[in-house]
Amino acid sequence: MEAVIALLPGDGIGPDVTASARLVLAAVAEKYGHEFAFREELMGGIAIDECGDPLPPATIASCEAADAVLLGAVGGPKWSDPNAPVRPEQGLLKLRSTLGVYANLRPVRIYDELAAASPLKAEKLEGVDLLVVRELTGGIYFGAKSRDEDSASDLCVYERHEIERIVRVAAKLAAGRRGKLCSVDKANILETSRLWRDVTDKLVASEFPDIELETLLVDAAAMHLLSRPADFDVIVTENMFGDILTDEASMLAGSMGMLPSASLGESSRGLYEPIHGSAPDIAGRGIANPCGAIASAALLLRHSLGLESEAAAVEAAISEAISNGARTADIADEDEAVESTSEMTDVIIGCLQRQP
Ligand code: NAD
Repeated sequence: MEAVIALLPGDGIGPDVTASARLVLAAVAEKYGHEFAFREELMGGIAIDECGDPLPPATIASCEAADAVLLGAVGGPKWSDPNAPVRPEQGLLKLRSTLGVYANLRPVRIYDELAAASPLKAEKLEGVDLLVVRELTGGIYFGAKSRDEDSASDLCVYERHEIERIVRVAAKLAAGRRGKLCSVDKANILETSRLWRDVTDKLVASEFPDIELETLLVDAAAMHLLSRPADFDVIVTENMFGDILTDEASMLAGSMGMLPSASLGESSRGLYEPIHGSAPDIAGRGIANPCGAIASAALLLRHSLGLESEAAAVEAAISEAISNGARTADIADEDEAVESTSEMTDVIIGCLQRQP
């Protein structure tokens, strides 16, 4: 098949891990006879430096014309002045809302060989296979903001239809997995959460009667994710809670660098990015873990291009590379040899080429 992929490398380690994902996609194209055209565009801090806008119109146009968008990460200390008129993250929020990608899927997959990289005891990690479905274009990140000398406010708004569509996505995904859905809210305090819970309870009961629905308050969910992570199948939650809980969940997998994400809307065009940020502490050293970005490319193949066996082959290649002992610094034991970003990418491509 032919496909156009918009690439937004961004800042910090973003360009390194995006380059890795691009090489893997090119290897997929060669192995399976597809043609992928890559369009690289400015976004984030680098775009502010070059044209004063974290999401220039040309980048939006290129993303809208593409079959899928692959993003590295944006931000960093250079653009972190709270009083700056524009910030890289504004570009990210605008891109998500412009593309209408309201459903952010964050699968948390555990590799047995990386149990030592997680701060949790290995026995707690047995059987962990969960998917967080985070609402991505509403809630407090998008509400009106105000600030004066002595006060500030961020408005959190959710509308019924925004809750219904994300819960529907999550329940459908749960139906194709172990049939368990956990909705996370703060309904003892927040009005938005009380609406969230009401809508979720009714929708699941009427449209998905076979789904086992559990409801947790977000503070308790943060604890349960560590005390009984294997019990979770699909977790659905609002924008900010999902942001925080998935960083926590990444430590089940051993590193922020391992986790991919797919952001989907009504069309097949999705936005794919690792869950990590621009990691300024390791930027420019060539040591970032590319697995999250490469696994995001696998999600792109699956969800936007409908190439399930190619997606599975990329995931199998990552898995094989890890079980063969390939490690970037963030997932290596003290006594283990360490691969650079490009060496890890080469190992994964080698494993991909050997897939059936
Ligand atoms: P971060 O995810 O960049 O880094 C957190 C820690 O994880 C760091 O120690 C980092 O070295 C490590 N890490 C992250 N990705 C890694 C990888 N692939 N390989 C190895 N180690 C990795 O979070 P932060 O430090 O809180 O944020 C840094 C910047 O990134 C900020 O400007 C923030 O706004 C931005 N950010 C952007 C996104 C995004 O673009 N989607 C997401 C989160 C944070």
